[in-house]
Amino acid sequence: MYDSIIIGSGAAGSTVARKLAESGKKTLVLEKRPHIGGNCYDRLDAYGIVIHEYGPHIFHTNEEEVFRFLSEFTEWHLFGHEVVADVYGTQLVVPFNLNTLHKVYGKGKADRLEKLLVEEYGAGSRVTIMELKKNENPEIKAIADYVYENIFLHYTMKQWGQTPEEIDPEVTGRVPVLLSYDNRYFQDKYQGMPKGGYTAMFEKMLSHPDITVRTSTDCKSCISFTGDQVLFEGEGFTGDVVYTGALDELFDCEYGRLPYRSLDFQFEHLTQDSFQGRSVVNYTVSEDFTRITEFKYLTGQQDARGTTIVREYPFAYTGAEGEIPYYAILNDDNRALYQRYKDKLAPFKNVYLLGRLAEYKYYNIDAIVKEALRLAGTIRR
Ligand code: UDP
Repeated sequence: MYDSIIIGSGAAGSTVARKLAESGKKTLVLEKRPHIGGNCYDRLDAYGIVIHEYGPHIFHTNEEEVFRFLSEFTEWHLFGHEVVADVYGTQLVVPFNLNTLHKVYGKGKADRLEKLLVEEYGAGSRVTIMELKKNENPEIKAIADYVYENIFLHYTMKQWGQTPEEIDPEVTGRVPVLLSYDNRYFQDKYQGMPKGGYTAMFEKMLSHPDITVRTSTDCKSCISFTGDQVLFEGEGFTGDVVYTGALDELFDCEYGRLPYRSLDFQFEHLTQDSFQGRSVVNYTVSEDFTRITEFKYLTGQQDARGTTIVREYPFAYTGAEGEIPYYAILNDDNRALYQRYKDKLAPFKNVYLLGRLAEYKYYNIDAIVKEALRLAGTIRR
């Protein structure tokens, strides 16, 4: 009855489902949650304000193919996303850039330091904090120490429960020191929000005569993996299966849980017009939460009355009911554990793993979509 079964309807699952359906495959999407869209899911709250239920998602990409594909399902509210860090009540632009340098050091000193940095790394370059810290010039070292202490150390301790040295360098490398006056958080060509929201965009993507979506359906209620055979509703299924969920859960965590960081999102509605006057403020030296997002500035919603904000409190995922695994904790041990689970899937030639959870990776939305397009291309027959 179905040619393909996709487990999960986030950016990964929805994209691959669409492309397989477009190539003529009858595709079934199984979604555990009562809604589609994965962690991109957005909705109106009780006050009529568009919120991102699973934390702020800002789309950004340089990939023409990805932007073109998603643009089939949405128009865009494009803007350059900017973030500031609250450092003892002073707002500093993040990533730390030449504007931030001037704000921190004042004109004369900042001019000299700018020259020094540009001579060392080149104008416009992106230097990770861990790289900058290795510089032996005492003046550059002092800048590195300032940025490390005021932007990275405490935020990273909150977010990961570990120091920047202890986590994968790619993670802090996502937010480099920028030797330019570009205040945007991302430097990509396209950045912003789907105009009608992510949920509407993914709904349109999944709306295809050859796609059936079953929400509130745990795949385990109808799929099992025995020997080298996938059983769907008790019968052998030889079509494609794309799994986008957590890999350990597929095997009942028999080797132990894959470690993740989770987040507790505390939403608050305020009757005032504006709380912080901007979309995101990172709390890099104080507070137990990492950042506050004010949604009306993120989504550009014009008719919002009052304002809704969310604070993010990170914690170690335990797998308890209601917890959500957001971030894979990338280190050698965890990758080895992931590999053990992956090896268990090796006999199943028609099963593919895709996305943040299933691949145990730190993917941005555009990178997931790109990978989903690539995978769909390889499994279309
Ligand atoms: N980071 C930080 N201070 C900041 C912003 C980021 O220390 O003000 C570090 C932190 O370790 C974080 C990582 O950089 O987990 C990546 O940040 P990003 O904004 O990409 O995280 P995401 O939005 O994906 O949660």
